[in-house]
Amino acid sequence: MKVLKFGGSSVANAENIAKVVELVKASAVEGPCVVVLSAMQGTTDGLIDMGRTAERGDDGFFAKLDEIRARHNDAIEALFTSGNRTKIADPIESLLQELESIAEGVRRVCELTPKTLDRILSFGEIASSRIVSAKLAAEGVENEWHDSRTLIRTDSNHGFAAVDLAETSRKIAERIDGSTTRLHIVPGFIASDASGSTTTLGRGGSDYTAAIFAAALNADILEIWTDVSGMMTADPRFVRNVRQIPRINYREAMELSHFGAKVIYPPTIQPVMAKGIPVWIKNTFVPDDAGTLIEAESAAKDEMVRGITSIDKICVLSLEGSGMVGIPGFSKRLFDALSRAEINVILITQRSSEHSICVAIEDKHSELAKRVVDREFENEITVGKIDPLRVESGFSILALVGDRMKEHTGVSGKMFSTLGHNGINIHAIAQGSSERNISAVISSKDVRKAVNTLHEEFFSDGSKQVNLFVVGVGTVGSRLLEQLRLQHDLLLEDLRLNVRVVGLANSKRLIIDENGIDLARWKELLNAADGPDLKPNQIADIIVERNLRNSVFADITANEGIVEMYQQLLKESVSVIACNKVAASSLYEKYAGLKGLAREYNANFLFETNVGAGLPVISTLNDLMRSGDRVNRIEAVLSGTLNFVFNHYDGSRPFSEVVKQAQEEGYTEPDPRLDLGGTDVARKILILAREAGYKMEMEEIKNNAFLPASCFEGTVDDFYVELARQEEHFAKLLGDSSAKGLKLKYIASLVDGKASVGLQSIGPDHNFANLSGKDNAVLFYTNRYSEQPLVIKGAGAGADVTAAGVFADIIRAARS
Ligand code: ADP
Ligand code: ASP
Ligand code: MG
Repeated sequence: MKVLKFGGSSVANAENIAKVVELVKASAVEGPCVVVLSAMQGTTDGLIDMGRTAERGDDGFFAKLDEIRARHNDAIEALFTSGNRTKIADPIESLLQELESIAEGVRRVCELTPKTLDRILSFGEIASSRIVSAKLAAEGVENEWHDSRTLIRTDSNHGFAAVDLAETSRKIAERIDGSTTRLHIVPGFIASDASGSTTTLGRGGSDYTAAIFAAALNADILEIWTDVSGMMTADPRFVRNVRQIPRINYREAMELSHFGAKVIYPPTIQPVMAKGIPVWIKNTFVPDDAGTLIEAESAAKDEMVRGITSIDKICVLSLEGSGMVGIPGFSKRLFDALSRAEINVILITQRSSEHSICVAIEDKHSELAKRVVDREFENEITVGKIDPLRVESGFSILALVGDRMKEHTGVSGKMFSTLGHNGINIHAIAQGSSERNISAVISSKDVRKAVNTLHEEFFSDGSKQVNLFVVGVGTVGSRLLEQLRLQHDLLLEDLRLNVRVVGLANSKRLIIDENGIDLARWKELLNAADGPDLKPNQIADIIVERNLRNSVFADITANEGIVEMYQQLLKESVSVIACNKVAASSLYEKYAGLKGLAREYNANFLFETNVGAGLPVISTLNDLMRSGDRVNRIEAVLSGTLNFVFNHYDGSRPFSEVVKQAQEEGYTEPDPRLDLGGTDVARKILILAREAGYKMEMEEIKNNAFLPASCFEGTVDDFYVELARQEEHFAKLLGDSSAKGLKLKYIASLVDGKASVGLQSIGPDHNFANLSGKDNAVLFYTNRYSEQPLVIKGAGAGADVTAAGVFADIIRAARS
């Protein structure tokens, strides 16, 4: 004997019903079967909606009934030829008429009791099972339809009735075991109480009906046919790369379903487990897929964590008070009060101090829980021994399930550090004594991210998805996007990083694509986007709201406004990669504040390209400091622009022309005065000084300026005009230096905690004498590098190297 159950989607329409009929036929030739059917998809919800509409006295219920009628009639129309159609159409129509008169009664009295609702709901399963039965008969397959209300006996708890298993099993065995028919069709979900009134077994209860039949008939197997190819490692609606679980034991399956894996209704496992009947979850639409086999001991021993699930609409009750310490009985009273009110407790944690008990229940019971618990502890609350019950909503429970977790240390550590890295706050934790389940209460807004990160941590092939938001698509930004495009596959292969750009913005437009923006077409896509002219904080809101795991934000602008986003992002554990120097060179308090936030929220705040473009200056300095070295002196040529300018300015061309060339070749800041006036170099030495541990502000840096004050007035265009007018001044600087056989270099230095920037004339033996083109060089004199400095030298400007530096920071953040 085999029991097959087909879910709502399997009988959603004529086409699907035809598939079910084929599957049933194939099983029936092999041996006796019981086939349990759910209502056509959407019918149970539709019936509830219809009932509630009628209850409000609203005759809009007719329209809802018509939808239900149409769904069934359409299926009948398509499945049956005109010759045998009436045989099924007539009884379905009389059921519909009965339904209509019940609903009309509900509308008149404006009352929908649970008992009446159950009666209304029974229509769904009765209709679908009768259609399937009639279709099989029409195809010449002999079968018998049974009303499961005559076989399954429950109490009178309408909506969620408890089954009298002994009585039910007896009835089922009597009716079916003795029957000569080999194929039995029954409606799922519905039953009846001692007085014969219709009851239901809880939403999703057809699975349970099937398990009851399987147990009563000692079936060889229970097959649950649904719309997925078995139990998955996570809810496929949340996680894209879920894996199918080939085999799983009853306890794990039960745990997964209790904690949200809707693919099987939780009570289903119990009756079959008691009889050792295997359960096979199969996909009606892909019947050849292997599905999941649930059995006593699963053979597959490889996986430590079996699956990740979540339940939403949870509220947390906390009972606290000094009066609870050391006095027995408080928890018993709490649970008794909840149980008397029929409130199911999903998770419990108690602090070791016994100061508080924390209980998670379904949100819908929150008000009732508050009432009954506060009443139970009325006296203690009055005298101040216990605080009134605290009720907080908006939570979900996240659960990691696996029998083998107990054999491995560090699973919960890994779970919580993964969540922590993604800024997911944990409200309460519970680990069952079976150690088969570790659960955490988290805010519902974080569930999707949490399930995804944990799935990646425990189930992926080790690869990690990194979700990157890039603001600024100028020369450096464009190069970065190109590099990301070209390196994507290699990063995935070598570092197991799947870096996807999910957001891209310039000053006018923004595009977001959670599946990753096509980097071959980003320009076109960005240009086609609406121009919402978003403010930086709105962009930050969008990033936070998307709440994607492993989010990294790259600021490739020189914009002061964008910096305002950093704080908000870091607080949400989004790493910030700043090509923009504004933040690290602003007030010390701000710089230190951002670094502190990064530490606190497990994020990265990296700005390698702030100094020497792609050269590993800051990372080297960080490594020196972390390994206990101390920086005594820094000397550096830090401006690609100034180096370019003074290397090219030999008197043969005007100074202004050389500056213009530097700008055209992409070396300068958008306003070249930031470079020429020393501000840019001062910012860089400031950042180095800070990273070297000096608490320094911009004003403390001595700036020996060489640009006449008049050059700082007006726009960039005005500046070039003024620069040309000042040619004599620059010619003299060059002349004086050349006369002594020296070269002009713009040098930044930090000595004993004092920093300065300025033009210097250096001789041919100087460390910086041979720096050509756009090269930068940094000399670190430290305790360890005391005689010969540690030298970092190379191109310190240019879109490609800068983009590469940002890229390196992104990878650093992604891997941490
Ligand atoms: P049926 O109508 O066949 O009873 P359900 O909708 O009740 O189907 O259950 C199947 C659905 O369960 C799937 O479509 C899937 O979205 C959801 N689901 C949630 N968690 C899991 C999981 N871990 N594995 C498989 N499916 C899951
Ligand atoms: N039709 C019922 C429901 O939607 C029972 C089931 O499908 O299992 O909840
Ligand atoms: Mg179901």
